[in-house]
Amino acid sequence: MKSINLKPVGMVKAEYNDRMTVPLWGQDITVIEIFPEYERALLRMEEHSHFWVLCWFDQARRDILSTRPERIDPNLPEYGVFGLRTPARPNPIALSLVKLVKIEGCNLYVQGLDAINETPVLDIKPYYEQDIIFSPQAPYIRPPELDKRRELMLKEAINHHQEDCADLHLALRMALIAEEHFGKLNSQDLYLEVRGSLCLGDVLQGLSRARLSNPARFNFTFSADTAKSVWQKNGMTLSIELARKLDNATQLDQMADQELFSIRKE
Ligand SMILES: [Zn+2]
Repeated sequence: MKSINLKPVGMVKAEYNDRMTVPLWGQDITVIEIFPEYERALLRMEEHSHFWVLCWFDQARRDILSTRPERIDPNLPEYGVFGLRTPARPNPIALSLVKLVKIEGCNLYVQGLDAINETPVLDIKPYYEQDIIFSPQAPYIRPPELDKRRELMLKEAINHHQEDCADLHLALRMALIAEEHFGKLNSQDLYLEVRGSLCLGDVLQGLSRARLSNPARFNFTFSADTAKSVWQKNGMTLSIELARKLDNATQLDQMADQELFSIRKE
């Protein structure tokens, strides 16, 4: 098989120079510097909000075909590299879904890029609505540490809800308790019932990927003065209800689960 010749179209300008310190779920704002000869390729790009960015991880190992997702959890089993997003693979092409923040000349300011400073960029393609699969099945690959799982879940919640509101944080707290109890929330046999605000319902649906049907896993009732989620799996029920009125989101972050909620397991 003959080899393929690729020419980078740009370069990442990021705060991080070491791939072991770069945030696992993408960075806040990064710049992609497109080389001047490709400027015409940026035409009308701002009509899209999200893009796939393909980079070349030139420091990655190319000689292994299976590995453990060690940065997430060293106790996880080994997977073939085609079943992981690890940089190590025969052709270290990296894929990131980013939000386009602004374009200045040949500089693209993006959010969510997973690449260190000076990483060559191979290509950029728009993210389309038809790319969305609401509840794909995947192995449960999550960090064991609560703060890392919280960070990942916050990112998923904002991705889904597209606004960082008080009830998003309330939903996040409930979902973390449910995850502690049931493991993977996007599970075909985990049923979720929510009573509360539209934001609470939307975020919990997004985090659990529970659809109204096929299979029926989700039920929502609007209520202005309740915030409750009931999770059921294999005959076990976990009910989490907000036990007090909150003044602001900071107060929510400072309170322990037991102070904040009335939690019942059956
Ligand atoms: Zn909201």
